[in-house]
Amino acid sequence: MSAFQKVTGLTGMKDALPPETTRWEQLETIVRDWLAIYGYQNLRTPVLEQTRLFTRGIGEVTDIVEKEMYSFVDPLNEDKLTLRPEFTAGVVRSAIEHNFLYDRPRRVYAMGPVFRHERPQRGRYRQFHQIDVEALGFPGPDVDAELILMLARLWRLMGLADIRLEINSLGQADERAAHREALIAYLEQHKDVLDEEARRRMYANPLRVLDTKNPAMQDMANGAPRLFDFLGDASLAHYHGLCARLDDAGVAHTLNPRLVRGLDYYNLTVFEWVTDRLGAQGTVCGGGRYDGLVELLGGKPAPAVGFAIGMERLLDLWQQGATDRSPAECQVYMVHQGDEGQRQAARLAEGLRDAGLKVLVHAGSTGFKSQFRRADASGAVAAVIVGDDERASGMATVKWLRSNAAGEGQQESIAFDQLAAQLQQRI
Ligand code: ATP
Ligand code: MG
Repeated sequence: MSAFQKVTGLTGMKDALPPETTRWEQLETIVRDWLAIYGYQNLRTPVLEQTRLFTRGIGEVTDIVEKEMYSFVDPLNEDKLTLRPEFTAGVVRSAIEHNFLYDRPRRVYAMGPVFRHERPQRGRYRQFHQIDVEALGFPGPDVDAELILMLARLWRLMGLADIRLEINSLGQADERAAHREALIAYLEQHKDVLDEEARRRMYANPLRVLDTKNPAMQDMANGAPRLFDFLGDASLAHYHGLCARLDDAGVAHTLNPRLVRGLDYYNLTVFEWVTDRLGAQGTVCGGGRYDGLVELLGGKPAPAVGFAIGMERLLDLWQQGATDRSPAECQVYMVHQGDEGQRQAARLAEGLRDAGLKVLVHAGSTGFKSQFRRADASGAVAAVIVGDDERASGMATVKWLRSNAAGEGQQESIAFDQLAAQLQQRI
């Protein structure tokens, strides 16, 4: 007996297994095609970045930076590093570093894992995946509307209903400053209902206090002065410009003056797509405008807007509407007898793959019975049998396993050199 204690995966970090991975791949394909028709190009940034990118970009007094980041000191050179908790900061870092947003504005996307140390539950994991889309260098509101219309199209493409759009405007720095004073005064009046975190944040980042998930503070948050009421003409014009374009396209939206989002870099447009079908974690996508971030991270000032979709939540929602059974492993399953039979079957399989068919050649157990059981379980449309008789005659036996033109359970002989053409035509 080995003394080695079994290794398990980490809490909140899931393995995705087949056939679930087929859904992941289908989603990724839909998403890439969808991004392509809007002209968004792929950008790939490292999973690991310098910690100060995120503390600066996301903001010190936020959930992510205060308690959710996987940070460590590189033991080799003492660099302070963090596994990316979101994409935007890295995308902007890359845009500044490679100067790719100044010659002309850019539409880019990134997709992959992000890491946050949270309490795992449905829709909330420590490694999860985001589709991140950013439009760099555009002041909006035309591009803000473009992004939101894109999302409405994605939900349509995926057949998702019951996702509603909430929008708000966070205005500009001076408007937030005026609101901030009123908000701090209000929070001081309601100190008795503030939890410890809120009291700690109320001076450093009072807006963040309204983003609380604490149910005992909801009434207080609902009665707080609304940033929306502090917006000046230019911010209101931006907001109404967005609304008009959403109305043009028939995309329903509601103003949620409480929507502030969990990161510091936003201004003007912010939005979330929310559903009631996912339990407590109902936000599928969040985004907004972050015109100050490029400069904050050391670049020449440039406006920008973007969003991130949580892929696990999106898949969960998509799965609810799905009626199809788990996808087949292959279309054709090759059953064989003896060493020569296996080699003949493997040669034929290559010919079928040349014709574009998905083929599995049985491996492992040798009995016909267990081979047929595997063929059935694979979801294949046809089993192709290469036994001694078939090799002698040069004719494969094809057994149709699913109801189709040939009829379930039907069996026929097809010459080896006709097999690819015949199956390609009939599957
Ligand atoms: P929440 O309020 O649910 O914590 P957030 O505001 O922290 O969300 P964002 O930073 O806007 O989330 O991330 C964009 C999207 O990523 C969210 O709308 C959600 O779909 C998804 N998401 C965020 N955190 C997690 C997580 N821990 N596990 C799975 N998906 C997540
Ligand atoms: Mg969060």
